[in-house]
Amino acid sequence: MRPREVETKRTASPAGPVAGDRRKVLVIEDERDIRELVRVSLENEGFSVLEAADGDLGLALARRERPAAVILDLMLPGLSGLEVCRRLRAEEPTVAVPVLILTARSAEADKVVGLEIGADDYVTKPFSPRELTARVKAILRRSYGRAPETPHEVYDRGGLRVDFDSYEVHIDGNRIELSLREFELLRFFVTHPNRVYDRAQLLELVWGPDTYVEPRTVDVHIRRLRRRIERDDSEPEWIVTVRGVGYMFDERRLQDG
Ligand code: CA
Repeated sequence: MRPREVETKRTASPAGPVAGDRRKVLVIEDERDIRELVRVSLENEGFSVLEAADGDLGLALARRERPAAVILDLMLPGLSGLEVCRRLRAEEPTVAVPVLILTARSAEADKVVGLEIGADDYVTKPFSPRELTARVKAILRRSYGRAPETPHEVYDRGGLRVDFDSYEVHIDGNRIELSLREFELLRFFVTHPNRVYDRAQLLELVWGPDTYVEPRTVDVHIRRLRRRIERDDSEPEWIVTVRGVGYMFDERRLQDG
């Protein structure tokens, strides 16, 4: 096969890769632990992750789901990673999808990332989650332009600022300290505004489905959260009680600025 340069692949598709969702990433890796690590690392950065444990399933998912990038292990049972990459490059729906190779040896990866099959980059195992997500963002940036937006990285309205990455909360410019649970409760409310949730729903959605705590726990945390964020916790502006139903983050009352 004639070596093909990465550049020619790009110019062959002037409109750039057609990806339905720039934050959708496919990982093809037979080792479950590594797949899991990749998935969790990317999900923490706001990506949605599709998983395939072998090459055939990976190819099928790539064709059907049009991921924005593929993370591809070289040592796969059945269809090898090398062959998967060749086939991705050979077919129209996936011809330009950026491919990040996972491999145990960098020498091997150098070859595939070079001219041979046109992968975009590689990460050698063992890798750190931080390194992996940085590489994924870099190949997405190179392929599609600027980095895709993370939805709701910061909530900032009416004097309430919640930073979802640094876990910092400011009220009218003043930093306030919250426990992790209080922060999670607040994050849930600001990302689900103007809807009433009862205590059972909040327990399930914020504490998780496998938590066995009293519904009263919710009230306790709401009270603490109000004490920290409300300007007057006897007259809550943000987290309001809807009598007989539950609690609501009332965004409509917030004045911008
Ligand atoms: Ca493997």
